[in-house]
Amino acid sequence: MYETVSAISTPHGKGGIAVIRITGAEAIGVADRVFFPKNGKKLSEIPSNLSVFGGIRKEDAEIDTGVAVVFRAPKSFTGEDTVEISCHGGILLAGSVLESTFLAGAVPAGPGEFTKRAFLNGKLSLSQAEAVMELIEAESEEKILLSAKKTKGSLTKKLDALIGELKYLLASTYAFIDYPDEDLTDVTPEEMEKRVGALEEKLKTLVDGYRSGKAISEGIPTVIAGKPNSGKSSLMNAILGEDRAIVSDIAGTTRDTIEEKAVIGKVILRLCDTAGIRDSSDPIEAEGVRRAERKLDAAELILAVFDTSRPEDADDERLLSLLADEKAAGKEIVVLFNKSDLPARLSPAFVSRAAALSGTAITVSAEKEEIAPLTEEIEKRYLSGAVGIDTGELVTNARQHASLRQALDAVRSAREALRSGMTQDVASLDLELALARLSETDGRAASEAVVNEIFSHFCVGK
Ligand code: GDP
Repeated sequence: MYETVSAISTPHGKGGIAVIRITGAEAIGVADRVFFPKNGKKLSEIPSNLSVFGGIRKEDAEIDTGVAVVFRAPKSFTGEDTVEISCHGGILLAGSVLESTFLAGAVPAGPGEFTKRAFLNGKLSLSQAEAVMELIEAESEEKILLSAKKTKGSLTKKLDALIGELKYLLASTYAFIDYPDEDLTDVTPEEMEKRVGALEEKLKTLVDGYRSGKAISEGIPTVIAGKPNSGKSSLMNAILGEDRAIVSDIAGTTRDTIEEKAVIGKVILRLCDTAGIRDSSDPIEAEGVRRAERKLDAAELILAVFDTSRPEDADDERLLSLLADEKAAGKEIVVLFNKSDLPARLSPAFVSRAAALSGTAITVSAEKEEIAPLTEEIEKRYLSGAVGIDTGELVTNARQHASLRQALDAVRSAREALRSGMTQDVASLDLELALARLSETDGRAASEAVVNEIFSHFCVGK
C-alpha cells in the first residue's frame, strides 16, 4: 500500500480550470475534508465516476467552487481510490486547493507518480506507461496515433507472445536437463532449433522496427549540405513549412539555433546545426571542410543540395566526394537537385553520378516549396517494410530497443549453439538470458532503479 498523494495535474498557469488529483487508500477521506458537495452528502457517499458540484475549502474557509469525481479502486487509472477535483484555473488558487489536500493528509506526488502507481498496481505495463508519456510529448500526428495504440497495450501483447514462446521452449529444455535419457520433451532438437530460429526472426523484426519507430518518434538527426546559394535555407524553410530561417542572397546570415524539428510526412527530422547553414563555414568551402565533416558526423541523414540551374564546379565535386565518404561510413544520403523551376545547367554526367550516390534523382524546388518527392523518399527509406506501424507494435524508445537487442543476441546465440549440435542445456542458458531481457523490456522484471528512472521523466501530476 502506498501513501496517499496529490498533485495539480493541469499545466502550471492561468486557465479555465485546474485539476487536482488525489490517489491512494486515503484519497476519499482526504477529499472529504476538502470538497463539500452542494447536495449535502459527503463525497464518500457519492457513487463512483459521477461528477458532483460542491464547495472547496481550505482551513474551514470556502475558497472556490468546483466539480469532483470519485474513482474507486480498482476501477481507476492508478488502480487505487482516486479523486479528481476541478477548480477554477488560477495559479495561486490551484496551489491553495493542493495545499488543502496536504493539510487533509495527502503528501506531494512525485514526477509521474500516478502513472507509476498504475504500473505498480498492475493497471499498465511499462511499455504502456511509457506510451502515455510519449503521447503527451508527441510532436506529430503519426506519433499520437502510434502512442495511442501502444497505451492500449499493442506492444505488450506482442512481447507477451514472445515471452510465452520463450517460456515454453525453456520448459522443454529443463525437461531435457532433468531427464536427459528419457524422451520426455515433446520438442525434438530439430523443432527446437526451428522454433528458436522463428523467435529470433520475430525479435529481429521488433529490433529493426526501431529505425522506423525512432524516425516517427524522436526524429532523425539530419543535416542539409550544399554550397552557398544552392538553396539550403530555402529547403529548410520549405521543410519547416514557415519562414523561420532567414533567406537572403547575401551569404553569411547566421541564426543561433542549433537544432530544429520538422515533421515531413510521417517522419520527424531533427535539423542539426541550422545556424551553420548560412554561415561562412559552408560544407564545401575549403577552410570549412573540417568543420563540415564534424557537422556531418552528428547526422544520420544528409540532405545534399545541388543547384541544377548552374553548371557544376569544384565545390560541387568536393561535396560529392565528401558524400561518398559519408555514405561509406554508413550515412543515409539523399541528393536533391534544387531549383527545378529553372532551366537545368548541371551536366547530365554529374547528375547521374550524384544520383547514383543517393540511389535516386530527386528534383525539388525549395523556393516554390515543391518538396513532395523528398517527403516520399524519406518515408520510403525510413518506414517502408517496417512491421507494426499500423498495429502499434513498434518500438520507439531507446531503453526498450536496448533490452530487445540484448534478448535478440541471446536468442541468436542459443540458435547457434543448437545448430552446432550442442545439447539443449547449453542453449537454455542463453534462453534464460533472453527471457530476463525480454521481461525487462516491458517491466515485468525491470529493476526499481529502471522504473524510477523512467518515471522521473514524467511531469508531476501525470
Ligand atoms: P543557401 O545559401 O544554400 O542557404 O541558399 P538560399 O536558400 O539562401 O538560396 C539562395 C538563392 O537561391 C536565393 O535567392 C533563393 O531565393 C534562390 N532559390 C532557392 N531555392 C530555389 C528554387 O527552388 N528555385 C529558384 N528559382 N530559386 C531558388
